[in-house]
Amino acid sequence: MSDIIRLLPDSVANQIAAGEVVQRPASAVKELLENTIDAGATEIKLIIKDSGKLLIQVTDNGCGMSERDARMCFERHATSKIQKADDLLAIRTMGFRGEALASIASIAHVELKTKRHEDEIGTAVLIEGTEFKGQSAVNCPNGTTVSVKNLFFNVPARRNFLKSNTLELKYIIEAFFRVALVNPDIVFTFFNQDKTLFHLPSGNLKQRIVNLYGAYYANRLIPVEQQSALINISGFIGKPEFAKKSRGEQYFFTNGRFMKSPYLHHAVEGAFRELIPDDSVPSYFLYMEVDPQTIDVNIHPTKTEINFQDIKSIYAIIHASVKQAIGKFSLAPTLDFETEQSMNFPVIPDNQPIKQPVITVNPDYNPFEKKTQPQTSFTFPQKPSPSIQGWRELYTTQEPPLAEIIEFPAPLNGSPDESIENMGDAIGRKKGCQIQNSFIITQSQSGIIIIDQQNAHERVLYERFMDENEDEMIPGQRQLIPQTITLSPGDAQVLSEWTTYFKNLGFDIDDFGKGSFVIHAIPMNFETPDIRLFIESILESLKLPGTEQKTDQSRLLAKTMAKKLSIKRGKKLHQEEIDSLVENLFSCKVPGLSPDGKSTMWIISYDELNTKFKF
Ligand code: ADP
Ligand code: MG
Repeated sequence: MSDIIRLLPDSVANQIAAGEVVQRPASAVKELLENTIDAGATEIKLIIKDSGKLLIQVTDNGCGMSERDARMCFERHATSKIQKADDLLAIRTMGFRGEALASIASIAHVELKTKRHEDEIGTAVLIEGTEFKGQSAVNCPNGTTVSVKNLFFNVPARRNFLKSNTLELKYIIEAFFRVALVNPDIVFTFFNQDKTLFHLPSGNLKQRIVNLYGAYYANRLIPVEQQSALINISGFIGKPEFAKKSRGEQYFFTNGRFMKSPYLHHAVEGAFRELIPDDSVPSYFLYMEVDPQTIDVNIHPTKTEINFQDIKSIYAIIHASVKQAIGKFSLAPTLDFETEQSMNFPVIPDNQPIKQPVITVNPDYNPFEKKTQPQTSFTFPQKPSPSIQGWRELYTTQEPPLAEIIEFPAPLNGSPDESIENMGDAIGRKKGCQIQNSFIITQSQSGIIIIDQQNAHERVLYERFMDENEDEMIPGQRQLIPQTITLSPGDAQVLSEWTTYFKNLGFDIDDFGKGSFVIHAIPMNFETPDIRLFIESILESLKLPGTEQKTDQSRLLAKTMAKKLSIKRGKKLHQEEIDSLVENLFSCKVPGLSPDGKSTMWIISYDELNTKFKF
């Protein structure tokens, strides 16, 4: 039998490569834009018609190509960027495989116009589906314009596979963002159907992000900066309160190249854990610089995946840097009640009937009379408005507490009401006041704070449950008649591993073997009709995927228990309960948010009040 293996003709080989490199119009946009970056352009124009199916045109003012290169660039594996295998170890350019133009030209009508700065005249090349149609001299500006028309004209299968125009345009915009976000110094203009979609002037990274997303975005960003021997990280993360349910604003760039990495995404997400709701994703724009020798970009035709030599350390560094950045702009207030003036809310004992307030009037008072005495006035602390809308800043101002600044008028009748004086004493130790059986109002040096009692208590309990060094075990409520429960062998195994932990929460559980457990005590406030069901549901969640790690498991357990045992909205609290909740909340590590990211409090700064009432 004769030999049967043959080399494929170039046109077929190119189409096969195109299948990998150019899956949709957005892939062609990506390749063309990347070429302009590699060409050192400072101004780039992208024109799209019919979501790229009819036309994709990219114009740059980069280095341009010689007459010969303008033909050569359409050859497969024709590249100016690497020459030998070793060069692959030190790639600094976006392209290097020499496949993109060959692939695009095999499935479209392509026109290239290019001129080097040193040349008098430019050159134009026309190619239709790999077929060279001609080259001529043209008058054109320095740089290159590539026009890709009728993409997939000869690959109907692929053309039919494309999504709606809206969706394809969305992909193109995404490809544009990935390049624009990493080159803020380059001017970009993007026209869709003859309308300007984006015009991005040259600027810094923050300006670029704001130009892409809108001015409101400026206040949402927290800077990240970390230098280490292995990796330098810079960029921004979104503030936790702006995390969204949908993905889309998560960007990693390595050495100027957009990169997908679910693993490193996890590192960022982990740093936001407990600060945002479980179903939300944080925004981030993180730029990593590493030694090109320590990464491999050449593992995927579109080069959006990168292998790192020491991915574990990089994971740890990213996680720590993001955590640190959040910490710096932390939403964590530190209230010092020692230096804090007491609340001025009157305490009315439960059983005391409410008295009509008595109003005393000074009959000699003349509002138009000019006083020679120092005026009794209300002066509010003049504090520059915080540049960072963070709690910490609100709390660290060193002004005297508001109550000290307000000079109250002397009692008009000269003899203070005794009952009020006694009340003042009681108020002196108060930390807050409950309203609507659901909220607690308290104050700090720079604002009024409204606390949601349920979310706040969840946070307090959660941190207590998570605190491994907690010597004090949370006291349980002893059962008059201990209850025996029997669990499946699997559940019994998990529970026996966790009995000490359950003990810390206030359960007293004895393992009797063969799946039987005797429950002597349950946590205070624990109101559940069926303890077995409750324990089973917790054990079930401990078996969920993604909770294999002990820390994930204890976090989950702490969260479930905190939710279960927390004081609910609508419950009337005694003064001591209010005080201890306020005090405990402000000694939490993350007082501003419940374990699943809901707000525990709302601060109205005195500045805001001043503005509101126009002082
Ligand atoms: P690669 O980028 O992997 O080298 P391409 O097929 O994208 O492969 O491009 C082939 C070559 O064509 C590049 O190496 C470069 O020399 C040249 N080239 C492509 N686009 C441009 C451009 N916009 N300006 C200048 N040169 C370009
Ligand atoms: Mg390229």
